[in-house]
Amino acid sequence: MANELFVYNTLIRKKVKFEPLNPPFVGMYVCGPTVYSHAHLGNARPAITFDILYRYLNFLGYKVRYVSNITDVGHLEGDTDDGEDKLIKKAKLEKLEPMEIAQQFMNSYHEDMAALNVIRPNIEPRATGHIPEQIEMIEKIMQNGYAYEANGSVYFDVNTYNTDHNYGELSGRDIEDLISGTRELTSQDEKKSSLDFALWKKADQTHLMRWNSPWGLGFPGWHLECSVMSTKYLGDEFDIHGGGLDLLFPHHDCEIAQSMGGLKCKSVKYWMHNNMLTMNGQKMAKSLGNTITLKQFFTGEHDMLERTYHPMIIRFLILQAHYRSTLDFSNEALQAAEKGYNKLVEAYKTLQSLSSSDKSTVDIKNLEGDCRKVMNDDLNTPMLIANLFEGVKIINSVNDKKETISAEDLSELKSIFDNYLVSILGLKVISSDDKNDDVMDGLMNLILEIRDEARTKKDFDTSDKIRDQLNKINLEIKDGKDGSNWVWKN
Ligand code: ZN
Repeated sequence: MANELFVYNTLIRKKVKFEPLNPPFVGMYVCGPTVYSHAHLGNARPAITFDILYRYLNFLGYKVRYVSNITDVGHLEGDTDDGEDKLIKKAKLEKLEPMEIAQQFMNSYHEDMAALNVIRPNIEPRATGHIPEQIEMIEKIMQNGYAYEANGSVYFDVNTYNTDHNYGELSGRDIEDLISGTRELTSQDEKKSSLDFALWKKADQTHLMRWNSPWGLGFPGWHLECSVMSTKYLGDEFDIHGGGLDLLFPHHDCEIAQSMGGLKCKSVKYWMHNNMLTMNGQKMAKSLGNTITLKQFFTGEHDMLERTYHPMIIRFLILQAHYRSTLDFSNEALQAAEKGYNKLVEAYKTLQSLSSSDKSTVDIKNLEGDCRKVMNDDLNTPMLIANLFEGVKIINSVNDKKETISAEDLSELKSIFDNYLVSILGLKVISSDDKNDDVMDGLMNLILEIRDEARTKKDFDTSDKIRDQLNKINLEIKDGKDGSNWVWKN
């Protein structure tokens, strides 16, 4: 059937038919950003991948509740439990409230996402707003025997959990290999095993973000917030959990262990992961000095960028690769994407002004089905773009009068582009150069103002001259009740 969506479930490592637990409702959770700094290019890929999934599920008629968290607790850096708290450090340095910094970067993240035309989730719960719920979950995990307190901190007991369950099942890691890969515990260590991870961390006096708990002052472990906030808003069991492949282990494996340990169920039916971005063939990492923020991308202020690229070009480049493939960013790739994007957008504009004939010499009867088929195949956006380019050929041949199109086919073609290009791929139809557009709007408003003044003074020589000269360069002035306006003539 044309409407059957198949998705790749990372947990069982195969593509399966998507069957929600309570159709037509779909619960979807995606790990969101940490708000200690500006969003990076790497943040764009999960955001866009799951934006497409959200848009497509809506298009298919599902009622989706999309939840994505904001990590605003000042966590310790990295996956290990040592290191410095970034948020707190910055707060102290600039004499700011930690929440002030979190808010500042959350606003910045929202700006970046809006530029990329990413739809906001239905709920964006913040970790700091869910401390009692996190404490409650830790208590449940302790009651079930999978966590222990040590010195004011609480750790998840991986070995005990692994006797009843399978720790590392999502990433496919083996617990013996994991143990041999970590350093031996010393007598000073509070943990029973080096694999145990913190559910609650004791905070000392220097720690600004800390809360009361049954174990004293402290703050929750990072993995915990996702288990808690996903199930709070979507129920103990829900449909989709998404995120980047870099979160597979330990974050998502820890989430599975926490949910099973606390709620005694596998919370997630479908685990979905987007692959990573590289920059000029290299992994992006702070240590390699090749990370780049989205803000730098939009303004072109980075050594690696030859110039600025419109956010829609970034979106288009990301969509040109399947979300499960790796994708390399380079100036060449961006410029190629820009050409492709402009071609699509120009064709979309042409489509709006195309006129129909009595009959079609073009054949579009399979186009909608082809678009749907590739999206149903685990969101194959590169193939969808290829199908839309088939549509571009048709648009251009009709526009060049090489072919004709019937009114019925024309309206079908318009609806395909509106649905797949605009609604599902979320590509905003912008001009090749927004700045030029702004200048153009400013100049035209000025000219229209001068013309209106001339008309008020009954200086029709001037007003007609302006109208006629603009006409010669394909601009048409329309005089209406509320003043004059202008359009490009077709
Ligand atoms: Zn998460």
